[in-house]
Amino acid sequence: MADVGTRDGTGEDARRSLPSIGQLLETETARRLLQEFPRATVVDAIRSAVADSRERATGEPPSPETLLANASARLARGDEPSLRPVVNATGIILHTNLGRAPLSAAAIRAMERLAQGYSSLEFDLQRGARGSRHGHVSDLLCSLTGAEAALVVNNNASAVLLALAALAAGREVVISRGQLVEIGGGFRIPDVLRQSGARLVEVGTTNRTYAEDYAAALTDETAVLLRVHASNFRVVGFTHSASIEDLAAIAHRHGRLLVDDLGSGSLLPTERFGLGHEPMPQESVRAGADVVCFSGDKLLGGPQAGILVGGEQAIAAITRHPLTRALRPDKVTLAGLRATLAHYVRQEAETAIPVWRMISATPDELGARASAIARAAGSPFAHVADSTAAVGGGSLPGEVLPSFAVALEHPTRSCAQVAEWLRHWSPPIVARVAHDRVLLDVRTIAPNEDQFVADAIEALASW
Ligand SMILES: *Cc1c(COP(=O)(O)O)cnc(C)c1O
Repeated sequence: MADVGTRDGTGEDARRSLPSIGQLLETETARRLLQEFPRATVVDAIRSAVADSRERATGEPPSPETLLANASARLARGDEPSLRPVVNATGIILHTNLGRAPLSAAAIRAMERLAQGYSSLEFDLQRGARGSRHGHVSDLLCSLTGAEAALVVNNNASAVLLALAALAAGREVVISRGQLVEIGGGFRIPDVLRQSGARLVEVGTTNRTYAEDYAAALTDETAVLLRVHASNFRVVGFTHSASIEDLAAIAHRHGRLLVDDLGSGSLLPTERFGLGHEPMPQESVRAGADVVCFSGDKLLGGPQAGILVGGEQAIAAITRHPLTRALRPDKVTLAGLRATLAHYVRQEAETAIPVWRMISATPDELGARASAIARAAGSPFAHVADSTAAVGGGSLPGEVLPSFAVALEHPTRSCAQVAEWLRHWSPPIVARVAHDRVLLDVRTIAPNEDQFVADAIEALASW
């Protein structure tokens, strides 16, 4: 192999003593890499490894083996898809950046079955003729919410856009100033309204809007009264907003429609779990909303989807709009959504759907799991600490769930370094840093990941 030359270890001599790319490509390791990856990719990786060591250029020049190991690691990393499973140890249950709701075992099985082959997506097996993809989940959505009709689209942002485009384009939509919100990711209700082709009519003030404010704003041009749930912030103090019943009464007295964007929406009463009340789609339907929009992957606990439920006519008008075709869900989503909804029908959502399992986990269980992880890791710098988890994902803002975490206080590394190390573990662990400690909140860690987290902490101890 290459003569690595002088051993004084610094400066020009060390640089000159590095083997050439050509020499490295002749080695057995490189030959193995060339069987796995395209030549240009291998050459690039070796070149980067050499450039890297040249930049450092302190101490002993690296051996050819070290350079090739570095190149192999680069290739292996490049081969990892950027979209990978991670362990969510943040304590935020519906973490949008981490893919929101993990799915139930039954939903995963249903999605896998549908993904494997052909399906009756748009084929009516009774008649042997073309069918509609929109029928597969609407029966369950109607029975769970009490609505007459339902439609599923890509996500809730598109559900709101579609409802307004179909029902109010070229006309006016009346909304409270307190509800002109930004949901996140730049999704702002006034912008969505504009994109739908509807004209925005603001009423009331940031903190107080009354039913009479809506009534006074009605004109010949009014098509829709829109209510948007303030899902990610809370206005406290001197506040008032009109009830959905009052808004429905005003809309219907004048032959207009009421659209209610719930954001998350919850099919189970959240107060059962010691939380505040998150609006429920079935309540909005009962109160007279013509269209109710909510997400499939927030508190519902299913795959990404936007759900519209409501009156027969309004949903039919929305379904006929050309944008429906552009926003339609795929077969795998529909299968997962149906399996998720079936848990609610069978009244087993709390135990079958991961999101509800995490919400309903008791502090006692969580404390026991945190202790077991810390014990299994056997590391002196890991201990159990109190933590606060949150539902997140645009629901129950400001509310917390008491929880437990494994807290890491590494003797020599900073919190940022430890958090980075955990992100590079495979699969990556995403932690929370608070008060100079790295916290691994067990409420969002799946119980079957506990041992794996303990192993990571043990490995971290010897870093
Ligand atoms: C989250 C949210 C949306 C967007 O839903 P996605 O499913 O993320 O598209 C819309 N409106 C409200 C009030 C929300 O909270």
